[in-house]
Amino acid sequence: MTFHKPALPRSLDWLPVADALAIIQKNYSPLTALQIIPVAKACGSILAEPLYASRANPPVTNSAVDGYGFSSESVTATKKLRLLDEQVEPGIPFKQSIPKGGAVKILTGSQIPEEIDTIIMQEDATIHDGYLIVNLPIKKGSNIRGLGEDIKSGERLLAKGHRITASDLATLIAAGITQMTVYKPLKVAVLSTGSELASHQEEPIHSQVIDTNRPLLLSMIDKWGFEPIDLGKVIDCPERIRERLDHGTEKADVILTSGGASSGSKDYISSLLRTEGKLHFWYIAVKPGRPLIFANWNQTLVFGLPGNPIAAFVCTLIFGLPLLKQLAGQTEWKPQSFMIQASFNKSKKPGRIEYWRARINADGFAEVFASEGSGLTTSLLWSNGLVEVAESTTQIQTGDLVKYFPYSSFELL
Ligand code: AMP
Ligand code: MG
Repeated sequence: MTFHKPALPRSLDWLPVADALAIIQKNYSPLTALQIIPVAKACGSILAEPLYASRANPPVTNSAVDGYGFSSESVTATKKLRLLDEQVEPGIPFKQSIPKGGAVKILTGSQIPEEIDTIIMQEDATIHDGYLIVNLPIKKGSNIRGLGEDIKSGERLLAKGHRITASDLATLIAAGITQMTVYKPLKVAVLSTGSELASHQEEPIHSQVIDTNRPLLLSMIDKWGFEPIDLGKVIDCPERIRERLDHGTEKADVILTSGGASSGSKDYISSLLRTEGKLHFWYIAVKPGRPLIFANWNQTLVFGLPGNPIAAFVCTLIFGLPLLKQLAGQTEWKPQSFMIQASFNKSKKPGRIEYWRARINADGFAEVFASEGSGLTTSLLWSNGLVEVAESTTQIQTGDLVKYFPYSSFELL
């Protein structure tokens, strides 16, 4: 048996990823107030109540085709059915009765007269001298759409905590729903920390690092349907950081910070949250990422990301998005993944989950970015998703199945 050195220092308590995600799911509940919105504006909103159908769809039994309707009993007696002069049309009540042995032309979507139980398609019908000649086998009930076969009145359609998609709207509108109670959008503030940072709108002096985390996080927040609030950037100075955090608590439901999350002497985010805030958890057994802070500053939750852009990005996808969704009222959300074969060989230390920047190559295999550098933003240009490698795994070989999360699973596209 090979002996693997543990990847994480023994002196710290490293929280497994699954435990961190379970804590998020169990302990954080929706923060925002409720509002009533019209159904047509509901796309992207999160339901604060289950939705029930107000009416059935179809509302009446109707024809699925343009064709000819009759009673199947008439056909057992004769194959030649007398056609009525009038036709049945959608949206227009049909007042005539259809005598035994008769048939009627009926258009798609028309309510079925009660004497009719079968419709044959116009393309299959032979008409001769005012008669419908039925010379093919018929099936009682064919081409008829039953009342409520899609939606039953009173049926539960969606659960509380569901985020409405554009494709949901078809059902909600067909079910006669006109408005619904949803959560107001979660307000998410973003603060970058680091004395070396320049904002992308200003001319950086030579040694400055351009603050990439803040515009990236703000656009992701916007994309996810939350309300982004820009708290700017702040130098590594406890007084200034305290001020910004205080300001953030007035403006937002939750604050995302990046940088200063570790235990270095200039890492004031972690020291302030530890000493003056309330730390929930800190070190997670994940790469890239450690350390990652969940804390409270006054009443407001602070999610403290590492400064390295890739670590900040990956941790936002893996922990930030589930946390924000939970706080916004969206429950039971999980990013979709699928298993694909690796096109590479790569080893890893046990004891932590790793996320490798990856993409699917032309042959349908997963390939990973050559370097693990946590500051390499070009790895995000190159990749289309992440490969998740389990805690206990130490080696991936070509042909092994790996768990792949496309970025679209995190609603980034
Ligand atoms: P820190 O987590 O503060 O120790 O920062 C780790 C690394 O990430 C350093 O090289 C920082 O310069 C860099 N970094 C921190 N914040 C940002 C940011 N907002 N944008 C780009 N790089 C950053
Ligand atoms: Mg820093």
